[in-house]
Parts: sequence; C-alpha cells; structure tokens
Amino acid sequence: MLVVANWKAYVEDMPKAKKLVALAKRLSHTRGVTLVLAPAAPYLGAFAAANRSKVAFAAQDLSETTGGAATGEATAAAYAAAGAAYAIVGHSERRSRGETDEIVARKLSHALAHGLLPILCVGEHERDSGGRYLSYVREQLTRALASLSAKNRARVIVAYEPVWAIGRTATEAIDPIDLAEMVSYIRKVLAELSPGKSAANTTVLYGGSVEPANIRDLAGASGVDGFLVGHASVEPDSFALIVRQLS
Ligand code: PGA
Repeated sequence: MLVVANWKAYVEDMPKAKKLVALAKRLSHTRGVTLVLAPAAPYLGAFAAANRSKVAFAAQDLSETTGGAATGEATAAAYAAAGAAYAIVGHSERRSRGETDEIVARKLSHALAHGLLPILCVGEHERDSGGRYLSYVREQLTRALASLSAKNRARVIVAYEPVWAIGRTATEAIDPIDLAEMVSYIRKVLAELSPGKSAANTTVLYGGSVEPANIRDLAGASGVDGFLVGHASVEPDSFALIVRQLS
C-alpha cells in the first residue's frame, strides 16, 4: 500500500515538521507500506535532499512554467533537484483556486519530464442519483491524460478524492462499496485511454477523510492501492494508527 501524507498548510513550524519526519522514518519499516511525505516546499527542501531513509517526498503542487523569469514559482526541475520523487497534481484545493484541466495536463508533463511520479487527483464535487459524477471523473481523467504518451500515462498514479469527502470525518468519508465501484470505473477509463494496455497495474489511491476509524474498511475495498491522507497525517497518533493498520 502506498500512503501519501498530504500536510497541506497544516504544518508551519520546524519542530512539528521534524517530529512528523522522524515518525515517518520509524513507520517506513512497516511491512507492505510505502510512505511518501508531501510537506510544504520549504520543508521539502529542508528534509528531502539529505534524506537517506525509505521515506520518499512529494511536491504538493508544481509550477505550470518551466523556469526563467517567474518569481515565486517552484518548477518540476527545482522539486526534482531538491529530492522530491513524486508530485501531487490537480488537487481540488488547487483546482478551486483556478487550476484548469489544461494546466493540470501541463503540470503532469513537466513532472514526468523531470522524473517525478505524478499523483493526479480527480473527484466529483457531489454525488447525484443519475451517475453524472462518473462522467465528471471520466472527463477529468481524459483531459489530464489524453495528451501524454501511452508510456507516460502508465506512470501516472491516480488519486480519487471526492471533494465532498475531503476535510471531514471518517463517518462522512466514502463507503467502501462505492469506493470499489469508482476504482474499477477509473481503471476502465484508463484502459479506454490506452487501448491494448492493462490498467490493472496503475496505482489508484483514495483520499478524503481517511482516519484510523475507517482505514481498515477502506483498504478492504477491492482494487485500491493506497491512500492520500490529509488532516490525519499531521496528527502523529492518528497517522501511526493508520499506517500500522495497513501492514
Ligand atoms: P483529508 O484530505 O484527509 O483531510 O480529507 C485529503 C486530501 O485532500 O488529500
């Protein structure tokens, strides 16, 4: 199982960042679990370059530009040079600040060009009885991935994060049966995008109110390969309980 700790902007002091990195290093020996930390850029810079542990680092986002006169931008090349191995792309909290599918597609190709494994976030805002949420996710996937080569497309990790389930509690997260259905739907769309290629090997994660109370049930949902954990990943006890239940 791949567990990505998305610190968002919850961590704003070095002692807390150090404590969470130390915890992740201890947890990285958990059998069957690969741990990735996605801290804010300054912390990634502080920890990733000197990192010799099994913990890997992810950018929470990256620039749609490729460098040059672009004050304030952190490019894929800069993240790769700082020691990131992954990059979250298209998180709903970026999309809600104006990130379009076209920008998401550009960021994916920058990440891939610099050897970062992209974690593409998709997910509907709400569920309707007519199944429109399925076509919404299909469109997000298609617009993000269609312009990539089949080889690059196969390297993208997909994180299904229904917006309605983010930042809430375990009881408001997705039902494992609905998750299993969505994961197989995502694989079907991926298979259609890359005819002749198996989508069974694509890593598909779930994110949205993953907590110690629901991790076991969600992990039992067929087809899911791991989790993108937000608020519970910056609470040491909760994060440890989540990871330990996956071994
Ligand atoms: P959450 O966030 O676990 O706080 O719901 C998940 C995410 O947005 O990646």
